[in-house]
Amino acid sequence: MRKLAAGNWKMNGTEADLGEIDALLAAHPSPRCEMLICPPATLLARMAGRASSGLMVGGQDCHPKTSGAHTGDVSAAMLADAGASHVILGHSERRADHGETDSLVRLKAEAAWGAGLVAIVCVGETEAQRDAGQTLDVIGAQLAGSVPEAATAANTVIAYEPVWAIGTGRTPTTAEIAEVHAFLRARLADRFSDAEGFRLLYGGSVKPSNAAEIFAVPNVDGALVGGASLKAADFGGIVAAL
Ligand code: PEP
Repeated sequence: MRKLAAGNWKMNGTEADLGEIDALLAAHPSPRCEMLICPPATLLARMAGRASSGLMVGGQDCHPKTSGAHTGDVSAAMLADAGASHVILGHSERRADHGETDSLVRLKAEAAWGAGLVAIVCVGETEAQRDAGQTLDVIGAQLAGSVPEAATAANTVIAYEPVWAIGTGRTPTTAEIAEVHAFLRARLADRFSDAEGFRLLYGGSVKPSNAAEIFAVPNVDGALVGGASLKAADFGGIVAAL
């Protein structure tokens, strides 16, 4: 399968930063991998308008309902209307900052599909959980709770993002990434006949200097990139490694 380089701009970016998209597309007109950037909702339509067929755009969250009295929230249909093809769900920052649970993430995934979006469901352990030897238990529970029964390789991507590796410059060893990704693949195979086709992304301090090593790990089908997705030169370096 083609690998996926997905960028998460988080709460960063205004009009002035859209030049990074122009630079990225100019430098990588026909990359080997697929490219996706998830900007803040305020930039989605403008980014989609500038992106050629070489770049997909996505949301960073959606509400489980299609519309209604939910001040400040954005529905999956609104993201699709703005040009999104994907939406990140259950990112550890949403789980920590907004108390998002596995069951809420599951509802959001169903809402995403309802609007025709691919759901990127994030799972990952904290440092304390890893130190306590609970990594696979935690990830197994998140996967079971967050990914609905109707998931397919076409409508769902799984991102393994150890919380302690996000924005810290620290990454697991390639053996640790391989262990978790093999576990994810096996757990998916318990539930889904097309488990081999699901894209499994690694996320957490991916940068141009470590991308090639991480992408060589079995069952790593791409990356979810935070800080290094903000600048075309950095994200382009990751794209080139895929
Ligand atoms: C993320 O938050 O999805 C992420 C992977 O961040 P960073 O690349 O900055 O660690």
